[in-house]
Amino acid sequence: MRNLSKIYKMGDNEVRALDNINLTVDEGEFVSIVGPSGSGKSTLMNIIGCLDVMTEGEYYLNGNDTSKLNENKLAELRSSEIGFIFQSFNLLQKLTALENVELPMIYKGIPAKERYNRAVELLTMVGLEKRIHHKPTELSGGQQQRVAIARALANNPHLILADEPTGNLDSQSGKEVMKIIKELNERGNTIILITHDINVANQAKRTVKIMDGKIYE
Ligand code: ATP
Ligand code: MG
Repeated sequence: MRNLSKIYKMGDNEVRALDNINLTVDEGEFVSIVGPSGSGKSTLMNIIGCLDVMTEGEYYLNGNDTSKLNENKLAELRSSEIGFIFQSFNLLQKLTALENVELPMIYKGIPAKERYNRAVELLTMVGLEKRIHHKPTELSGGQQQRVAIARALANNPHLILADEPTGNLDSQSGKEVMKIIKELNERGNTIILITHDINVANQAKRTVKIMDGKIYE
């Protein structure tokens, strides 16, 4: 990101939610972005994840100038390059763990057998091989987040974008989820972790501190 700003316009009012952000994250890094409520974390995450666009400046994702891509191309980049992990898990309640993990692969047109094998492999990696036929309501919060992590990995993204991934978890489940996130980084994934919690942020290899839309450290 170069000289990137995001301005929300509301009638005559303007909110400069991000103010001249300069940030480079290299492949394989594990970076946390930490700041208080209202500092611009979610705004930044949405732009990194190509869910929203900047007002000023430049943003390149994996060599792609995002300002030159239309919505279809952005959606393609999103589904092939980025795995999202949210605070609220965002699993589909009517589907089993296995089906939730298979879903992104269905959208991508991966054949059934391959899809099934990969979903089982990913659920095994997060320690849920005995829970593949459980629905979210039949899983603990930590287990649901681990299903969400397996789902985020389904299409083999380079970048994992996690927004407060431990925010809804007790400390033990939070530790387990952070352990898995660290392992993903050791296996080569780039991780960007958004949090207001400095103790969570400090587990990354690099911490970027944000306040009032500006990076100050
Ligand atoms: P939290 O930790 O509470 O989630 P945050 O760091 O994620 O906070 P953002 O949601 O990025 O903060 O908000 C940054 C600033 O932009 C805030 O002042 C907020 O009021 C403002 N803002 C966010 N979204 C919008 C919007 N859609 N329209 C107008 N202003 C917005
Ligand atoms: Mg937020």
